[in-house]
Amino acid sequence: MTAPAATLSAVEQDADILVSGAGIAGMIAAAGLAHAGWRVVLVDPAPPPKDAEADGSDLRATAYLHPSVELFQRLGLWNDLAPHATPLAALEVIDTQGWPPEAQAARIFTAHDLGLPVFGWNLPNWLTRRRLGDLLADLPGLDLRFGTGVAGLFTRTTGARVDLSDGSRLGVRLIVGADGRASTVRAAHGIGTQVRRYGQKALAFAAVHDRPHADVSVEIYNVGGAFTTVPLPDHDGRPASAIVWMNDGPRAQALMEMAGAPFGDAMTTRAMGRLGRMDLASPRRIWPVVTQTAARLTAERTALIAEAAHVLPPIGAQGLNTSLADVAALLSALDGATDPGAPAVLDRYARARARDVALRARAIDLFNRVCKSDAGPAHALRRAGLAAVHDIAALRQAVMHAGMGAAFSGGGMGRG
Ligand SMILES: Cc1cc2nc3c(=O)[nH]c(=O)nc-3n(C[C@H](O)[C@H](O)[C@H](O)COP(=O)(O)OP(=O)(O)OC[C@H]3O[C@@H](n4cnc5c(N)ncnc54)[C@H](O)[C@@H]3O)c2cc1C
Repeated sequence: MTAPAATLSAVEQDADILVSGAGIAGMIAAAGLAHAGWRVVLVDPAPPPKDAEADGSDLRATAYLHPSVELFQRLGLWNDLAPHATPLAALEVIDTQGWPPEAQAARIFTAHDLGLPVFGWNLPNWLTRRRLGDLLADLPGLDLRFGTGVAGLFTRTTGARVDLSDGSRLGVRLIVGADGRASTVRAAHGIGTQVRRYGQKALAFAAVHDRPHADVSVEIYNVGGAFTTVPLPDHDGRPASAIVWMNDGPRAQALMEMAGAPFGDAMTTRAMGRLGRMDLASPRRIWPVVTQTAARLTAERTALIAEAAHVLPPIGAQGLNTSLADVAALLSALDGATDPGAPAVLDRYARARARDVALRARAIDLFNRVCKSDAGPAHALRRAGLAAVHDIAALRQAVMHAGMGAAFSGGGMGRG
């Protein structure tokens, strides 16, 4: 990956910034940077899927919370996504025990409590990525290249050279690593990661059900972790939700291989009939559940964002919303800069994000351990914790504010 120092000066500045990875976070970062007037190249070996059934399509749905929607709006991207979005008006948390699950405690958190009509808007990831792919294809200042990725890089104080998998080479002044949990950019800089595993996997898929979701997301805890429903638009005339179902590895694998009808039975029981009969409405995808944090967010001429920097268990809609907080912080760190990869710019970015990322990773790690456990003390802690967080108004407000993200300042938000 490294070449003799002399080589770099020979490489022209083909662009200001290279963004490695056109997942949702990388696309938003590239759009924001081009929007700010930088010459940006965005590369990804995997083009967006045509539809939900396509191989490798991301069947997760993301609840974009207030600060994330504001970022979409600021970049002029929300109007195209809004028609596909479903509101998230409330979150119901139910702690259960045993099988079939029996409710031990339940509380509802509403957006009104924060002075908001909704917490945010839900969108399926495959659709968001496809729409963004279309929008970014014509964005001035952005060179979007699917089918190639970062194969190697070399940096100096004056600039960086990136080798792409199609054999081409680019000279830039900043590399943004948005290339996911196995980031090539992070590895190329030898940045280590701290990984916490739980022996847990999460299934992500869409389901149809008899009863309407009323724009309420439901998180039901039982041994193995959370079963979460995220409201979606109706599908084939039936109410529909995106589901994230966490379990210990072997149980998750067994559910992944289960035939449709028995899977519907198991799902309906796991959801305690809360949405009536539930049936599969898409292929299933399975993800290892980990908490992973990069040892540092920056390196020479490089900034890491999103899952290249931090991976969180899928609880409380934190993953991608935390990633978009990285994007917002990177854009403001570059505000007024003449050299996008200058050490002062990278320090500003790292200072803005490091503490929030570390605190969020620690909190979600602890929360996931308590929520997946079947031990008596964990049950007691869950029940007491849920009651305290909901019933003590000041604590409820503080936790909901923190959940909305570091950039949340309160105040109303509409669909438009
Ligand atoms: C089951 C589940 C449910 C979730 N639900 C939610 C939720 O409700 N709300 C929420 O906020 N978050 C949620 N998350 C987390 C969220 O989905 C992820 O944090 C987010 O999708 C990660 O986005 P990303 O752009 O960082 O990475 P990715 O989506 O992994 O994108 C990385 C991209 O980099 C590309 N790439 C890889 N190598 C290279 C290379 N060498 N060069 C160039 N490109 C490369 C890949 O092709 C890929 O397109 C969930 C996660 C899971 C597992």
